[in-house]
Amino acid sequence: MIHKLISRVFKKKSPKNGEPRIFKLKSHGITADHLTPCALKTVRTLQQAGYKAFVVGGAVRDLLLGREPKDFDVATDAEPDEVRNLFRRSRIIGRRFRIVHVMCGPETIEVSTFRTVAVATNNDSDDRQTDQDSGRILRDNVFGSQVEDAMRRDFTVNAMYYDPVSQEIWDYHDGVADLKAGVLRIIGDPAQRYREDPVRMLRAVRFAAKLGLKLDPAAIKPIRQLAELLEDVPAARLFDEMLKLLFSGHAVESIRLLRKKGLHHGLLPMLDVILEQPMGERFIMLALAKTDQRIEEEKPVSPAYLFAALLWHEVLSTWQQIQDSGERPAPALHQAMDQVLSVQQKKLAIPHRYDAVMKEIWSMQPRFLQRGGQRPFRLLEHPRFRAAYDFLVMRCESGEVDAEVGRWWDTFQDAGEAKRGDMLIKDEAAPKKRRRRKPKGAGSAGVQPINPE
Ligand code: ATP
Ligand code: MG
Repeated sequence: MIHKLISRVFKKKSPKNGEPRIFKLKSHGITADHLTPCALKTVRTLQQAGYKAFVVGGAVRDLLLGREPKDFDVATDAEPDEVRNLFRRSRIIGRRFRIVHVMCGPETIEVSTFRTVAVATNNDSDDRQTDQDSGRILRDNVFGSQVEDAMRRDFTVNAMYYDPVSQEIWDYHDGVADLKAGVLRIIGDPAQRYREDPVRMLRAVRFAAKLGLKLDPAAIKPIRQLAELLEDVPAARLFDEMLKLLFSGHAVESIRLLRKKGLHHGLLPMLDVILEQPMGERFIMLALAKTDQRIEEEKPVSPAYLFAALLWHEVLSTWQQIQDSGERPAPALHQAMDQVLSVQQKKLAIPHRYDAVMKEIWSMQPRFLQRGGQRPFRLLEHPRFRAAYDFLVMRCESGEVDAEVGRWWDTFQDAGEAKRGDMLIKDEAAPKKRRRRKPKGAGSAGVQPINPE
């Protein structure tokens, strides 16, 4: 599709100031039925009421790449109240920056009014101006023209508008040509655009990995110097962006790219945790690869499970330190979990709602080494057994735990009663007597310490 399209790009004259190149159906082949009925209805209704309306951003880009869009966003010159009045099932969301959600059945279309941006300058008298050589965006809720709306977008490939009624693509910044060339290019001066909104540095890496595009060298260059600007971004927004990166289905590729470009330090606290643990690296990359695979297979993924993996080696080394200072393994593990969570949560803004599951997965790990008596049966019944077992398998695959342990549990789960009885490893089941022994030693609470090597 894209090839056919591009062959025509260069035949067209360069558009004048801010005007888009317009591609007709015969050049791109994207018909209105590539949209969901809800997206189509939203655009049609707006146009019938006399407004401009286009599908915009990621959906147009993905359609041109022959991929199925994740969702459809619509841009219009109608103001939020006007949009709201046209659709019975719609609501305005956001206080500062108002957009309208239009609902049809289970689908929601996000409709935003064309906007322009107001950027801080040295002369700006706005009181949010304390760090104001920064060029950071002050307001992005000012309505504007379609040309301005295209200008405020981040990448050329994200600034294409598709009108399903005329079946035309309006391309303001040569996004079509960049897609064809396989380049992810920032609109305008990259350093300035990163200063306006530092999160764009992360978006650059994520989109390059996800779309298989080469990040324009001009977009890479300023990142190292400007990465520290991310420190001023609210933790919750960084956390959202990090989730998008980790759950993009291309986490391994994103990390590889960051490392290749030497950008893996200081860009995102979570990435530092991921990339700066020599011991845990293999384990973490395995966890990310499995997450990518599950997304590819459209299986559900759990942030708590992934965070548990990302922080596991922190927990292991803290656990060992606490045991070295004389604490018994079981209480030492609980102290280690609390300690790691309280430090990392502040740094990484991991919401507390994930705590319970992470702790369960971690605290079940030593129990996999207890294979005598009733304990393996009790572990099997634990509601979180499956996640904890998957976690154990990754530990085996990364070489942290003897692969035999993983195989034992694999067999044990599916074995009949009699076989299970034969499998029990009797020596391991004597927790009560051991508990009386003095700390320091292994297994004093019936919990086998795991060697954090
Ligand atoms: P995805 O498939 O990941 O959703 P997307 O391109 O739709 O990709 P969104 O984050 O949903 O990305 O944003 C929608 C559109 O809004 C983008 O295509 C881009 O045009 C614009 N946009 C989003 N975030 C920014 C930003 N930080 N700076 C400039 N433009 C942005
Ligand atoms: Mg999107």
